[in-house]
Amino acid sequence: MIKTKAYAAQSSTSELAPFELDRRSPGAEDVQIEILYCGVCHSDLHTARGEWHNTLYPSVPGHEIVGRVVAVGDKVRNFKVGDLAGVGCMVDSCGRCYSCHAGEEQYCETGFTGTYNGPVFGGENTYGGYSQTIVVKESFALHIKHTEKDLASVAPLLCAGITTYSPLRHWGAGPGQTVGIVGLGGLGHMGVKIAHAMGAQVVLFTTSSSKVEDGKRLGADEVCISTNPEQMAAYANQLDFILNTVAASHNLDAYLQLLKRDGTMTLVGAPAEPHPSPNVFNLIFKRRQIAGSLIGGIRETQDMLDFCAKHDIVSDIEMIPMDYINIAYERMLKSDVKYRFVIDMASLK
Ligand code: NAP
Ligand code: ZN
Repeated sequence: MIKTKAYAAQSSTSELAPFELDRRSPGAEDVQIEILYCGVCHSDLHTARGEWHNTLYPSVPGHEIVGRVVAVGDKVRNFKVGDLAGVGCMVDSCGRCYSCHAGEEQYCETGFTGTYNGPVFGGENTYGGYSQTIVVKESFALHIKHTEKDLASVAPLLCAGITTYSPLRHWGAGPGQTVGIVGLGGLGHMGVKIAHAMGAQVVLFTTSSSKVEDGKRLGADEVCISTNPEQMAAYANQLDFILNTVAASHNLDAYLQLLKRDGTMTLVGAPAEPHPSPNVFNLIFKRRQIAGSLIGGIRETQDMLDFCAKHDIVSDIEMIPMDYINIAYERMLKSDVKYRFVIDMASLK
């Protein structure tokens, strides 16, 4: 066992605080990674505070992990000591079902094993990246091709990057398509960068008028203030695809009306409270669709990392020490993040 310092929530109402956990010693197929940086996803907050009603405590969040390989098992072929490596939201899956065979482990029929909060459908708890080290099967570790100086800004790609890349690819974002990104937070700012790099016309929808300039700098061709009905009306029936990253319950109809015939709005935000039921007439009159999407498979996560390295895409980050995490969560609730907090794990002493 490897003693590891970490930060944990002990209950839905307690702040995160220092905690010590044991990692398994690396087995034949495992890599041990010294965690250098870990991004802070809104899912960490939902989980630590029990907002999805499935949290196992103590809860050590963190699934945007980057670091250096410090040990490898005998059968490990693709990593060696000293390599940079990443770990995203999953550390295992059944490997036998049709989704796993298709490389879509996030849709594993028996439930993948989350990097934190254990198997989705029950089982032993797992502890995430707000910690000094992690031991993971090599098949769930990712290679990082960005330069080392960008490492902290690469961390958020492991969740925010893949959660936006996967649906943008699946629904064919590219030249000739007008893509709306709703919400300029951690996911949304990656969505803007990635959709732009894929060649789509990108329209950002934000509730924050202070984010207009940033939206354009990040790659949006146009920015619409979603609380302004006139600005919204100008986009009626204009969009081929909308990626909705909003972390709170809101009126979906306002966006459905912006889709062209046969357009799709994909929800990736996972709010604690359900959205009000959408008006079916917005769907049936233009054969529009509402869909959902969950992170991405391991192969696609590697594709995304390679795509981002090739296109020089990283996250815009604010680096924080571990003991700032509770303040960071409060700022995240106020949409006051530009655009992802990343924990410098050297601060966890
Ligand atoms: P975040 O950084 O907090 O960003 C969310 C953004 O949504 C905010 O910056 C804000 O953007 C907008 N927003 C927040 N409250 C709003 C409201 N009441 N009405 C309208 N807009 C609002 O969060 P994140 O880390 O990007 O995560 C977003 C959501 O995705 C979370 O629910 C998270 O759990 C979920 N998630 C899902 C997956 C998946 O696989 N499906 C993966 C990761 C995360 P503006 O200021 O621009 O309006
Ligand atoms: Zn996440």
